[in-house]
Amino acid sequence: MVIGIGRLFKLVSAESFGSMKFVADKMLGRLAKWLRVIGQDVAYGPHLSGHGLIREARREGRMILTRDHSVTKGNPPDYLLIQSNQFREQLQQVIHACHLDPWKEPFTRCVECNTALVPIAKEKVENRVPPYVFTTQEKFSFCSKCQRIYWPATHQQKMLEELKALGISSS
Ligand SMILES: [Zn+2]
Repeated sequence: MVIGIGRLFKLVSAESFGSMKFVADKMLGRLAKWLRVIGQDVAYGPHLSGHGLIREARREGRMILTRDHSVTKGNPPDYLLIQSNQFREQLQQVIHACHLDPWKEPFTRCVECNTALVPIAKEKVENRVPPYVFTTQEKFSFCSKCQRIYWPATHQQKMLEELKALGISSS
């Protein structure tokens, strides 16, 4: 599936696939969140559409993800024109087109603000997570920007099942 990839193959060598950075059109919030779940660096926000999208992509060397055909006429840097309006198909398209490995580093990035998570010692989170979580979990990670604490939980399991349901199996 390579439809709608602008200049991607000229500028991006096969080796650099997988360490890409993205900027998602503001209409693609759910896709942006899911790409962060699998560890991808995705800029996303209300200002990111049209020219704002192109500016951000240029400034930070990010690949544009958009469904907006008019963006492709504005002489943008690398972009991927998203075909579907269904987030599952969108995620599949990005994973396949950009050769991403969703199992390489899932849950390593803050889903809310895109910051890379860092491990944090259990004793430091005692008063910051629910007591049940503290007693049942051993591994925690932390977002230094928005201060959120993350731990493996049922919602992560559901997300992994969702990826499997997409036909994105671990290799
Ligand atoms: Zn955060």
